[in-house]
Amino acid sequence: MLVSAKEMLQKAKAGHYAVGQFNINNLEWTKAILQTAQELNSPVILGVSEGAGKYMTGYKTVVGMVNGMMEELNITVPVALHLDHGSYEGCLKCIEAGFSSIMFDGSHYPIEENVAKTTELVKITAEKGMSLEAEVGSIGGEEDGVIGKGECADPKECKAIADLGVTMLAAGIGNIHGKYPDNWEGLSFETLDAIQQLTGDMPLVLHGGTGIPEDMIKKAISLGVAKINVNTECQLAFADATRKYIEAGKDLEGKGFDPRKLLAPGAEAIKATVKEKMELFGSVGKA
Ligand SMILES: [Zn+2]
Repeated sequence: MLVSAKEMLQKAKAGHYAVGQFNINNLEWTKAILQTAQELNSPVILGVSEGAGKYMTGYKTVVGMVNGMMEELNITVPVALHLDHGSYEGCLKCIEAGFSSIMFDGSHYPIEENVAKTTELVKITAEKGMSLEAEVGSIGGEEDGVIGKGECADPKECKAIADLGVTMLAAGIGNIHGKYPDNWEGLSFETLDAIQQLTGDMPLVLHGGTGIPEDMIKKAISLGVAKINVNTECQLAFADATRKYIEAGKDLEGKGFDPRKLLAPGAEAIKATVKEKMELFGSVGKA
């Protein structure tokens, strides 16, 4: 059964480790992440962007697939199914479809409107026992054409949103989505520390986990980050392993064209990436 991310993240914050959010794109992705979490006895958050939700034909399909898979694979570790960077309308759809967690990304609204919409969603998610992630200070990346230094959130705005009763808070601290450019200046620990000072026990979320050096990840966890989002890294690992399989001509040997064989190296590569991240984040054995 899917669970809210609240308990797993409060435990993580108190225990000084982080739970990984791994975004899913299809059956192979979902299976690889769930199996790895179970093998390593780690809590896990499955992230679904609005685009990936559409790709998988809709949120109800996603909920059906994940629930069915958890039952068939006997997954007993805590699993949250979470909407990543949701619009207000997308949040309402996922609540309806049976997600256990949502992120409302109101970072592009003026702070007053972000507060108003977040307040509304706090009420609805509390009634349903779901977790809610809010974002302050937009996180850059290819999507909106921001290259270079990611934005840093205003710690006072973070405190204002945290006080609304959200479960976890994503704040821009110089992080960005996708691959980091060569001239990236690194995470702003000064900002992160200021945010943690003001928001206390609130689990903080680090987006754009791909390519952040390990020592920076560890330092971020020590300063209150309890959830780290990983997306691009699994995509790169999957693509690389699949390309190698094809380039080696293995799809032309015997029944190597069978999708169950063709997609297997990519799925194994996702598993290896998820394992590496769970070890780095410290969530192994914490289910
Ligand atoms: Zn993000």
